[in-house]
Amino acid sequence: MVVSVRSVIQTNEYDQTASVAFICKFTTFPNRTLGIQQYITDTKLITMLQRKFDKKVKEFFPGAMDAKDTSIHYLGKMQIEHELDISKVLMATSVCSDDINIPSTTFFNVLFGPFIMGGLGGLPFAGQTGMTAFAHHIPDEGSAFIFYGPHIGITLDGELGKMYRPRQEETGNSCGALMLALSRIQDSEYSPVIVDDDYQQMKLEENILSYRDQILESENQAKAITEATYEIIDKKIHDHLKDCKDEFHVDKVTLLGGIIINTDYGLDDYFDARNFEVIELKDL
Ligand SMILES: [Zn+2]
Repeated sequence: MVVSVRSVIQTNEYDQTASVAFICKFTTFPNRTLGIQQYITDTKLITMLQRKFDKKVKEFFPGAMDAKDTSIHYLGKMQIEHELDISKVLMATSVCSDDINIPSTTFFNVLFGPFIMGGLGGLPFAGQTGMTAFAHHIPDEGSAFIFYGPHIGITLDGELGKMYRPRQEETGNSCGALMLALSRIQDSEYSPVIVDDDYQQMKLEENILSYRDQILESENQAKAITEATYEIIDKKIHDHLKDCKDEFHVDKVTLLGGIIINTDYGLDDYFDARNFEVIELKDL
C-alpha cells in the first residue's frame, strides 16, 4: 500500500498566510508513488493545520479536547478513579446520524457497542424501549457508558455551523438538521407538523421551539441552537435512565455528554464535555 495525499492550498484571510487544507487518504494507487520526503512535508502541514483548528475551536469552546485526548481522559477516569472494568463496558451513543460523527464515537474501539440511541440532532429517538434494550445487553458484572450530545462544524475562518466535508469544494452545514431547524424558527409564524415521513426532524424542531427566544436573541445563533439541543438531549437521557433503572442488572452507568465540534476531513474533531458522571442506579 502506498500513500496518496491530495493537498489543496487555500489563501486564508484570517491570518494572511497561505494555509493548507488537506484531504489525506491512504489508498492503493499503483501508478503514483509518493516519496517519503513529500509524506513528511505533508505530515508537518497536517500538524500545522491541526494547531490552527485547536486555537480556533478553543476561542468558542475553551474546555474542548481533541477526540483522542477525550477518549484517553475519560476512559482513564472510568478505570482509575471509578475502578470500572473497561473490558466489560457496553457503550450507547446518542449523537446525530451524520456520518461525520463516526470517528468521535470509537473510543479506540475498546468498548462493546455502540448501541445507537440517537437520531437527527442527537436526540435519543430510541426512547425508553431503546434504553431498556441497551440495559439488557450489558455484560454480566459489567457497566454501561452513554456518550451523548449534538455536533457543530467550524471553519478556520471561525464560522460555526459550517464545515468542509470529504471531497467537497464548498462548505456545508453541520449539524444539517440543527441549521435547518434554525432557518425555520427564524420565521416567527413557523410551527413544525409531526408527520410519519419526517418524524425526527419535526420532533427535533418541536423540542427546540421552547428555546426559540434565547436562540434568536443570541449573538451566535448556530452555537445557541447547539447549546439548547445539548440541554434537550441531556434531560432526555437522564429521564429515560430514571424511568428504566429497574431494567439494568448492573450497578453503575457512566454518562459523558457534551458538544462534538467537527473540523476538516483528515483532522481530529473536538469534544467539549459538559457532563461526566458515574451514576449509582440504586440512587436514582
Ligand atoms: Zn447532525
